[in-house]
Amino acid sequence: MHALLDGGRRQIDHLFPGFAAELVAGGAARADTGEGVHGFLEGRCKVLVDGMEVISATRPFLEAHLRRRVWALGNVRPVSGGAHGLVFTGDRVSGVRCSGPGESRDPAGGSSCDEDVLAADLVVDATGRGSRIGAWLSEGGWPEPGLRRMSVDLGYATALFRRPPEASGVTVAQSLTTLPDGRIRLSTLGRVEGEDRWIALVAGYADDRPGRTSAEFKLRCQQDPAAPFHELAEDGEPIGEPFLYRHPDNRRRDFHRLDRFPAGLVAVGDALASFNPVYGQGMSSAAMHAACLAAHLATRPSPHEPAWPYFRRARAVVDDAWQTSALNDLKMPHVMEPRPRGFAVASRISDVILRASVTDPVTNLRLMEVTHMLAPASTLLRPGTVLRAAWAVRGQGAVRS
Ligand SMILES: Cc1cc2nc3c(=O)[nH]c(=O)nc-3n(C[C@H](O)[C@H](O)[C@H](O)COP(=O)(O)OP(=O)(O)OC[C@H]3O[C@@H](n4cnc5c(N)ncnc54)[C@H](O)[C@@H]3O)c2cc1C
Repeated sequence: MHALLDGGRRQIDHLFPGFAAELVAGGAARADTGEGVHGFLEGRCKVLVDGMEVISATRPFLEAHLRRRVWALGNVRPVSGGAHGLVFTGDRVSGVRCSGPGESRDPAGGSSCDEDVLAADLVVDATGRGSRIGAWLSEGGWPEPGLRRMSVDLGYATALFRRPPEASGVTVAQSLTTLPDGRIRLSTLGRVEGEDRWIALVAGYADDRPGRTSAEFKLRCQQDPAAPFHELAEDGEPIGEPFLYRHPDNRRRDFHRLDRFPAGLVAVGDALASFNPVYGQGMSSAAMHAACLAAHLATRPSPHEPAWPYFRRARAVVDDAWQTSALNDLKMPHVMEPRPRGFAVASRISDVILRASVTDPVTNLRLMEVTHMLAPASTLLRPGTVLRAAWAVRGQGAVRS
């Protein structure tokens, strides 16, 4: 499942005008947060707030549409192949070592990387979380960026279902529940492209990871206290077996901490930082890195200088998503990473905000703006926001008693 959050949708729409509308015309579901996007906390449906939209589609569908738009740019020539290293000339990267497409040839066309070296003025590493950029820099005598990893041990299963589009009155639903030991379970469902097709995911940590059969998937949906997941288990007809995925760790490469770096090279997307997929921020982050790169290139930087200004811009995006992901992941008892200074207070505040977001529309709006990467995480620490959330949580207690 790949939900495109509003921060990413706006960035991609800016780079490729009409992109979201094209996805919807092709069958993707578009839902406004004030209507079709329902969040549940411990089975309680959160108050709905307007103003953001979510595009729900499968990953290959999103990727194919984006690729088509990129290929349609007049000055883009696609070349299929695998990259094996960087070529250095003096203090700069001047190309990529590569070899022909093999099985990975792009079905959308383009030429093959038949030459051993592709010359380049600027190399953008977009090879994902398994990027070998550190080793490639080291081969050229350059220091490797530090790779920070946060072990989270997430188990994740996705399954496709057939059911009518209007089923359960929601387009996208997400449910968070807490196990007695403090670990989180997450379930998400969304209508996607294709006739009567829905996709759902269930996720848990360490030994709470989901099983591999449809029966186990349905059981997990039945155990979820949020109604849309029971309904899916009852009326959804599975299309094939679930797909399993393990996400051992979040990781980021700290280019900004290097004191030496060649000109002509940057990294974007998961090659820069890869987060826990349950927060759905990966594509939005990647789109924002692209925007940072566009802003950097618009300043007409010298091709002989390292792209420090780009890395500084991108760092702000990474720091924010990392903070959101790390704060929530570190709350779980099985995550054995050291807690940073101030963690106990930040964790308490985030719990209060999460609880308040169930009933208080203003707190939920603030939280959603951060989740959708439209506002920095620090906005949630503003005294007014925290006090309002604390007040809302007190009110919930009064209503319950
Ligand atoms: C299970 C799961 C669910 C997710 N759900 C969401 C979600 O709901 N919303 C969201 O925003 N994000 C989600 N993400 C995160 C999102 O998928 C990533 O953040 C995003 O794909 C990063 O894009 P990228 O282009 O940087 O890297 P990738 O998508 O990993 O692309 C890297 C590409 O580089 C190619 N490549 C690698 N090495 C080489 C080489 N040496 N030579 C040539 N090519 C190479 C790979 O084949 C691949 O095509 C999810 C991730 C997972 C795993």
